Amino acid sequence: MKHRAEYEICGRYEYLEEHHLIPGIANRKLSDRYKLKINICRACHNNIHNKKELLDWSKKRGQKLFERKHSREEFIKVFGRSYL
Ligand SMILES: [Zn+2]
Ligand SMILES: [Zn+2]
Repeated sequence: MKHRAEYEICGRYEYLEEHHLIPGIANRKLSDRYKLKINICRACHNNIHNKKELLDWSKKRGQKLFERKHSREEFIKVFGRSYL
């Protein structure tokens, strides 16, 4: 698995897209509410949705971001499970 820096700062700054760290229809809104989002280029964005290990990284990253301000119990209450 590649280091996270390669995905957020891969050297490409064109076509930046917003990625919701915890994906899924219901989780998208929750990711919005808790600002669990990153801007990545289109290529990285495709990668993240197509490779399971990157999607796992994304969920963990989202939860870590959430837990800067909230507890793990709250995360589980909101998202239904823990990824860490
Ligand atoms: Zn996305
Ligand atoms: Zn990229």
